[in-house]
Amino acid sequence: MVNKKQVLQWLQAFATEIEQNKEYLTELDAAIGDADHGINMDRGFKKVISQLTTVADQDIGSILKTVSMTLITSVGGASGPLYGTLFLRASTVATGKHELNAQELGELLQAGLDGVLQRGRAKLGDKTMVDVLSPAVVAFGQALAENMDTLAAMQQAVAAAKKGLQDTTPMLAKKGRASYLGERSVGHQDPGATSSYLMLKSLLETLEK
Ligand code: ADP
Ligand code: MG
Ligand code: MG
Repeated sequence: MVNKKQVLQWLQAFATEIEQNKEYLTELDAAIGDADHGINMDRGFKKVISQLTTVADQDIGSILKTVSMTLITSVGGASGPLYGTLFLRASTVATGKHELNAQELGELLQAGLDGVLQRGRAKLGDKTMVDVLSPAVVAFGQALAENMDTLAAMQQAVAAAKKGLQDTTPMLAKKGRASYLGERSVGHQDPGATSSYLMLKSLLETLEK
């Protein structure tokens, strides 16, 4: 079970994680993009945190929808609309809910991934955030099928996300700015995949508290 308080703690933890890794994400983006991923995400999530107090007493769906709208309006580039869509789709699964069971959390993660896939049209192996989100969603679903609880399933999801993140390094980018580099994109970890890993890791750490 994940309650509303934990959702708020997760968003705060992710914002802190982004702030602490701002330079790192920007360095990763300097290698295969335009050196702004850390800056984009940090600006967006600082705005998110400043908005959260206004919706903290509402349902999880409303909270996630506010996150989405804030990201769409304050984060430029590829990652703003993509994370915005992820949180928008996730919010629809949580409409009117103040807590989510393991099944519902699985549906929320799946909906977020589906939003990114539809919006960005990246496939697995294209060296994007999809390479972290997709294996994580699959692992979460498999864990539930094996009757694991939310925490155990999330541990499986983050382990799969970590592997997915490492797998982006040898990939040739097929989407986004990194794809302009062709072969020169090989040998660098994808910045968006890295922020997506941090997002899932902060959810796990929130649930472990
Ligand atoms: P920009 O590339 O516009 O400067 P960011 O640097 O904030 O935007 O984000 C770059 C990240 O966005 C990439 O590392 C990649 O993970 C992700 N990305 C780019 N295009 C796509 C896409 N079509 N689908 C999924 N993710 C994408
Ligand atoms: Mg960039
Ligand atoms: Mg940019």
